[in-house]
Amino acid sequence: MQQQFGSFTASELYCPKCRSSQPVRERLLLVLPTGELHEFLCANCGTSLGKRTVTGPAVAAAVNPPARRARKQRLLR
Ligand SMILES: [Zn+2]
Repeated sequence: MQQQFGSFTASELYCPKCRSSQPVRERLLLVLPTGELHEFLCANCGTSLGKRTVTGPAVAAAVNPPARRARKQRLLR
């Protein structure tokens, strides 16, 4: 059984502590206005191997209503 990396959902990452590729556990770290920050932990030793931000329509709509986002963009410009 071989998994492909079509989207960036890593099932294994290189762990410097284990000095080999290890299966990872994904953990929700933070919920940001722009999405969710997930952290990849080595399933073997628990070292943080990386992070990724998940942006989904559901998350964006719930946390950041369109009206508020438009206003923020106007302030930035
Ligand atoms: Zn490890």
